[in-house]
Amino acid sequence: MIAAHDPRILRAMRGFSFGRILRESFSGHTGWTRQWRSPEPQRAYDVVIVGGGGHGLATAYHLAAEQGVRRVAVLEKGWIGGGNSGRNTTIVRSNYLFEESEALYEHSLKLWEGLSRTLNYNVMYSPRGVMALGHTESDVQIIRRHVHANRLAGIDADFLTPAQAKALCPILDVSQAPRYPVLGASWQGRGGVARHDAVVWGYARAADALGVDVIENCEVTGVRRDAAGAVSAVETTRGAISTRMLALVAAGHSSVLAGMAGLRLPIESFPLQALVSEPVKPIMPCVVMSNTIDAYMSQSDKGELVIGAAADVYPSYAQRGSFHVTGATLDSLCELFPCLRRLRMMRCWAGIVDITPDRSPILGPTDVPGLWLNCGWGTGGFKAIPGSGQLFAASLAQGAPHPVLAPFGLDRFRTGRLIDEATAAAVSH
Ligand SMILES: Cc1cc2nc3c(=O)[nH]c(=O)nc-3n(C[C@H](O)[C@H](O)[C@H](O)COP(=O)(O)OP(=O)(O)OC[C@H]3O[C@@H](n4cnc5c(N)ncnc54)[C@H](O)[C@@H]3O)c2cc1C
Repeated sequence: MIAAHDPRILRAMRGFSFGRILRESFSGHTGWTRQWRSPEPQRAYDVVIVGGGGHGLATAYHLAAEQGVRRVAVLEKGWIGGGNSGRNTTIVRSNYLFEESEALYEHSLKLWEGLSRTLNYNVMYSPRGVMALGHTESDVQIIRRHVHANRLAGIDADFLTPAQAKALCPILDVSQAPRYPVLGASWQGRGGVARHDAVVWGYARAADALGVDVIENCEVTGVRRDAAGAVSAVETTRGAISTRMLALVAAGHSSVLAGMAGLRLPIESFPLQALVSEPVKPIMPCVVMSNTIDAYMSQSDKGELVIGAAADVYPSYAQRGSFHVTGATLDSLCELFPCLRRLRMMRCWAGIVDITPDRSPILGPTDVPGLWLNCGWGTGGFKAIPGSGQLFAASLAQGAPHPVLAPFGLDRFRTGRLIDEATAAAVSH
């Protein structure tokens, strides 16, 4: 395990000090150097990772930092974090239902707690608590089942009465509103939010400092296989790059990339939308989500309310969503939080999420020798970035899935050993 404040990373970050900030502020901030290089692609790498989102960059960082694999390239078709990692609503929690998921997400949550220190970069992890509302008897039963399962796994989880929910989030209307009465809620106090851009930048900077080539504006357009069927190279818009180990970490475009290697994935890709309001004074002390109404909300440090909507009904690669989806989300939220009714929305956007039949990710090798997958995170993979990055890197280095990741292999869709997290990982992240 890499030590916090690893000297190699600290060396690369020399120059950040109070004195330096003061000097730069008087000289127009012209003396700062780039946070990571912009290298030309080399002809060959030990590991090529497609996708410069949080998962790809975290994997690269851990390969270099902990596994001693240095000839690593992260190929990103646009700019790093331009995919879902920079578009998501940043909710972090570990209260999934099944023990396989609990092990993965709890490992991740523990890493979140020290991530700013590990990367020496403030990722603004804020454990402000995550509440999931129940509006029907059936919701309440599901919530109680989750709380019990989490407690058995040693994960912090509580059941809240409507009054307790109101005490934690005073703007929530629990007065038995006709459409969405609040009958109870789950609570994970260690859950919260983090700053998504900072996560991506922190990993990129640390990986680059350890020698990883983070190559932006480099789209993978083909996968070459040798006579035995094994991966031998990728074709990119910046030339061919040889490798014997190719990791596809491309979220909503994983099926497209796997198709280049002749592989069909059990994934459907949908637009998922989010919105932010105009900034207001602090009114929302925690995260509140509701699976029933397909909506959730938190407040950013700038004061904007960050709102997540449901996935679109139809698969699509168009990076925008249907207007009626956000309309329905706002309608419902205004019933739960009547004080929002006169608030103006500033922006909305979408990302393409890769949804598997059991709503759990796919992590591991494939039938194509040398081809590995880290995808299928659907609407909720941001929270898993630190844990999955570390364990996926260990798996690549060992050539076999880490025991925590082993249940998430592609073969579960053949064997039927699904990890059905539909109630924990529906739209509410
Ligand atoms: C609106 C929204 C809200 C969300 N909210 C949450 C949340 O609150 N909590 C949570 O845990 N999760 C949330 N998620 C899900 C989360 O964002 C994703 O699961 C996670 O960011 C996936 O990370 P990634 O690194 O796998 O993918 P990405 O960050 O999407 O990175 C993949 C990269 O691959 C690149 N790429 C694609 N094709 C190619 C190619 N051919 N060549 C080179 N590069 C390529 C893309 O440009 C992209 O940058 C949300 C998602 C969305 C869209």
